[in-house]
Amino acid sequence: MLIPRFTYSKFIRYVPRYECIKIECPRYIRNGGIWDILGFYEPKTEMVIVCEDRIVKHGRRLANQLKVDELKTTLVLRELVRLHEHSHAYLHTAQIAEHVKAACLRVINMEELNKDTWLFDLKPQVLEPLTELFAYITLKNTHILNKEEKNFVMRIFEEVDKQTPNYYQKWRDIINLIPLDSEFSIIALLYIARRKVWNSWDEFYNFISSNFNNVIKKLRKAYTLMKITLDKI
Ligand SMILES: [Zn+2]
Repeated sequence: MLIPRFTYSKFIRYVPRYECIKIECPRYIRNGGIWDILGFYEPKTEMVIVCEDRIVKHGRRLANQLKVDELKTTLVLRELVRLHEHSHAYLHTAQIAEHVKAACLRVINMEELNKDTWLFDLKPQVLEPLTELFAYITLKNTHILNKEEKNFVMRIFEEVDKQTPNYYQKWRDIINLIPLDSEFSIIALLYIARRKVWNSWDEFYNFISSNFNNVIKKLRKAYTLMKITLDKI
């Protein structure tokens, strides 16, 4: 439902990774926030795992707590878990249109990064809020839901987000600093994130707060120039 937002856009060329639905997940508890207990992303195989039994149990708990419909809650929760895990996959694979990539390289002096190394070296304290931010931007910009549906989905998202450790929720620091309705924001965020292995969320946040507007301005200019050049060919 929500994943195609990543797939079909002018700039973003995300090919959704394979999903594996586990009807019965092992009993061990994974470290991390609730999103990554109800599902997880395996970078080595680039596969999204959805833990069906855990989602059903958590959906029931959530519906009781919020006094809302259980089936609807569980279906939305499942979509949100998929969205979180595909956001991990998107950060990992960083698939964008070639002409946008070329424009980005003019703007950001990005070192050639080994995508596996980058993801494996990044601390969860940076990776998780970044993943949540991508999921949130996708939700904010989706056009497939009407107002009432969107409010419900957002309510479930906010509620589950509150159940995560504090560091997952740090994405909220950034939402007022960047335009959330622009695809340039997603591209700029992606490239800033992948510039280096950030040591801490504060380091990443400080870079965004002092450089984001500048980066996005340069990115728009480079993209316009690139487009004019391509149009002439
Ligand atoms: Zn996660």
